[in-house]
Amino acid sequence: MSETHDPQGRCNVLIKNARVIDGSGASSRDADVAVEGDRIAAVGALRDWKADETIDAKGLVVAPGFIDVHTHDDLEVINDPGLESKVSQGVTTVVVGNCGVSLAPVKAGIELSTLFKLLGPESEFRFPSIQSYRDHLAAKPPSVNVAMLVGHSSLRSEAMGVDLMRGATDVEIAEMRDRLSEALGQGAIGMSTGLDYPPARQAPTDEVVAIARAMGPHEDAVYVSHIRNERDRIVEAVQETIEIGRQASRMAIVSHHKCAGRKNHGRSRETLPIIADALKSQNVGLDVYPYIASSTVLLAERIIDCDEVMVASSEPHPEMSGRSLAGIASDWGCSEEEAVDRLHPATAVYFQMSEDDVERIMAFANTMIGSDGLTAMDHPHPRLWGTFPRVLARYVRERGVLDLQTAIHKMTGLSANTFRLKDRGLLKAGYYADLVLFNPDTVEDLATFENPKQRSAGIDKVMSNGAFIWANDADTGSRPGRFLTH
Ligand SMILES: [Zn+2]
Repeated sequence: MSETHDPQGRCNVLIKNARVIDGSGASSRDADVAVEGDRIAAVGALRDWKADETIDAKGLVVAPGFIDVHTHDDLEVINDPGLESKVSQGVTTVVVGNCGVSLAPVKAGIELSTLFKLLGPESEFRFPSIQSYRDHLAAKPPSVNVAMLVGHSSLRSEAMGVDLMRGATDVEIAEMRDRLSEALGQGAIGMSTGLDYPPARQAPTDEVVAIARAMGPHEDAVYVSHIRNERDRIVEAVQETIEIGRQASRMAIVSHHKCAGRKNHGRSRETLPIIADALKSQNVGLDVYPYIASSTVLLAERIIDCDEVMVASSEPHPEMSGRSLAGIASDWGCSEEEAVDRLHPATAVYFQMSEDDVERIMAFANTMIGSDGLTAMDHPHPRLWGTFPRVLARYVRERGVLDLQTAIHKMTGLSANTFRLKDRGLLKAGYYADLVLFNPDTVEDLATFENPKQRSAGIDKVMSNGAFIWANDADTGSRPGRFLTH
């Protein structure tokens, strides 16, 4: 890291007496941080610098702002630009367009499957190009930075309508490739798939490879996947992801890696060595959220082998949000499958992973932290509000799964490097001033499964592009977020 000891410097904001953790994985050190404009001007012994605003950070860690690599905030950054659920955790950048579902590009009048409700109602899909989405954010910026993936299922819906239970034809693949190229040219950072979901389940590996190869000229563009199976066929699905990355010559990222269903508990002992082996010859990444429950659309096929299922939202029965499926079925005097039918369209929280797998995956060197939070739910999974502080409280302080600098690295430097986000993710002179100040002794998630919309404790201040977006436990009203491109 570049140090400076210029006693004459001046800057907009001087953060003094900080314990700096720079995001590279290096240990903490005591230093001052100077911010000028939207960049970090200097890090070092700067106590005599002049500044418009000086902050005493004694007792606090100053780290790069957290990068939430797996989000579904495509619409949320438009409808709720303060994005309190994330900013209150210290997040300064969100990657949107995950799991094959992106808000853009989707041409007007396209019929969309119910999966798209994970982002919001069909009427909100009003961005026919990445450029139109980007223009909207430029006119009404959010607090955080936004980087966007192009969803394979969004492309499929455009090219194939609702006739999705088959592989795409060559003509349809050509159309999807064109749309992907156009989107990358307008600033998308890669493509995502959701091969485990009905709109893409019938897409063969070759279709995905053919589309992914359209990323060719954009060498930093990434392939990100909610893989084809996270249960009994988890190994084959991880292998398929790696193979797609290899054939398309790019970084392949396994989203929210998990081994779901009781009989698959422990199988991260199989998947992680496969990823480690692939890393010898290609780029592979993965992310995880710090919970043993997952959350997505409510489907009968997904309730098998779960310890418990909690309804997160239901269109016909909003009053059932937050209740267990077993309890609802017993009240209604029907089977759980029948209850799923009656609640549809609905979303749910599924308790189906083991703590050992979560910890083993989290500790793996290339694993990043991503929330996978879903805002379009009445009673969301607490990961939406709690992911980053929960890693710091539970997995660093209480269980010692990670040391603090490694945890920060998995939220910042590793994430920026994996997604190729330039000049972000490190606390370093010349980098963008995306910062979080937190108390390492008290930082803690307060969002629970019972009461999921709770801001965390211990997050003192959050800065994005040189402007504070969170201070004194509140949104500052500042909206300096940008659309990030490669
Ligand atoms: Zn997913």
